[in-house]
Amino acid sequence: MRIDTVWIGRGGQGIVTAVYIVAHASIADGFYALANPEFGAERRGAPVKAFLRISDTFEDAPEPIKTPDVAVILDDKLIDPMRVVIDAVKPGGYVLVSSGKDPEKVAELIGRKDVNIAVVDGIGIALKHVKLAVPNGPMVGVFARVMGFPKLQSIKEAIESQLGKAVEQNFAAAEEAYKTAVIIPATEQGTAKAAVEIPTTSAFLTGDYELVGWDKIPEGGLTYPGSSLRYKTGSWRVEKPIIDHSKCIMCRKCWMFCPDDAVLEVWRETKLPSGRVVRVKAIDFSYEYCKGCGICADVCPTGAIQMVREI
Ligand code: SF4
Ligand code: SF4
Repeated sequence: MRIDTVWIGRGGQGIVTAVYIVAHASIADGFYALANPEFGAERRGAPVKAFLRISDTFEDAPEPIKTPDVAVILDDKLIDPMRVVIDAVKPGGYVLVSSGKDPEKVAELIGRKDVNIAVVDGIGIALKHVKLAVPNGPMVGVFARVMGFPKLQSIKEAIESQLGKAVEQNFAAAEEAYKTAVIIPATEQGTAKAAVEIPTTSAFLTGDYELVGWDKIPEGGLTYPGSSLRYKTGSWRVEKPIIDHSKCIMCRKCWMFCPDDAVLEVWRETKLPSGRVVRVKAIDFSYEYCKGCGICADVCPTGAIQMVREI
């Protein structure tokens, strides 16, 4: 038996810890496991993937997985950008998704009838037990449910060895997800092979790209003004800022501190007590680029900005 899995998440969601927990728990249950994370931009919120290979015989096969048996997606907003990973899952395989959306809706977004789909509100469960929007523990629980291993007790011991703190809370999150995941079985057989392979370059994590030779790389690896416009970091968000204009004093601290230049100054119509409508300057956000870090809400002196959960 050999199971190849690819885990997709964001920096800060504990994806590397999740694969290490599953690897350690599987080893405790008598399997062999090989876990390799791969990082793109080393930034909180940036897409991250990790490979985990589990087998019942020793295999010296450290190469990246190109056609997984299981894809684990820790954020449903990664379904579209990571479509290549979903398409590369072998027919009859599994796609496990953390999403607060209706499971049937998630299955539609996955768009494959020849794979088994499991959906759980990983962030909701993590917020309940761990008080953090980190769906890694819940997705470990869903993995154990659909695969039939590792044992829950082994997962608890692996959480202890990998985290060393908040063990009961993280285990409670894994256990609740284990029990409540909604499983939608495959309804079609599909072809014998996966439709595509995951490219070996990590560039697919950020969308369209062009491979260039070493002699075409600009001196110092510099990028040019405006080139980061292509990278819509808004898809990284778990929470988004919303503003109560009645509390805003236009101090512009949020604009100064936003690391992504996603706070905008716009014209907005407002009605005066006299009934006259005037245009005033107001704060707004570019949700294409806001990555939901919450700094604007932290620095706002009047509490005009609130962060609200989006996925
Ligand atoms: S949450 Fe606020 S500070 Fe963070 S990226 Fe979005 S607008 Fe900028
Ligand atoms: S920091 Fe708060 S009060 Fe100041 S401009 Fe931003 S939203 Fe308005």
